[in-house]
Amino acid sequence: MNDCIFCKIIAGQIPSTVVFEDEDVFAFRDINPQAPQHVLVVPKKHIEKLNDLTADDALTVGKLLVATCRVAREHGMDAQGYRIVLNNGEGAGQSVWHIHAHLLSGRPFRWPPG
Ligand code: 5GP
Ligand code: ZN
Repeated sequence: MNDCIFCKIIAGQIPSTVVFEDEDVFAFRDINPQAPQHVLVVPKKHIEKLNDLTADDALTVGKLLVATCRVAREHGMDAQGYRIVLNNGEGAGQSVWHIHAHLLSGRPFRWPPG
């Protein structure tokens, strides 16, 4: 049995607040939000980290980004601006080993990021 938290959320075995779902992508609210709006967008395919991506994943990753921007639009984030963050590896802050985009909005964001 796959022990991945996000695979279990996608399967409905762990409850989440779902904001979008299609054939390839699942989006839900982060349990520990870092901004007034903080959504996690994940491919349904289990891929541990960005570093594992191959050319075969191009469509999956493209759909992930398109879906993330769609959620941003549908939640009115585009007017104020939003940030999409993808962490790869512990050094960059990755703590769940199933690739995911953080969609953040509702407060100012600094550059460079912390
Ligand atoms: P990472 O640190 O890997 O970039 O991001 C993982 C994110 O998943 C964190 O922001 C964390 O709050 C979120 N997270 C971890 N476990 C759960 C969970 O069970 N449910 C939800 N909704 N979010 C989770
Ligand atoms: Zn997974």
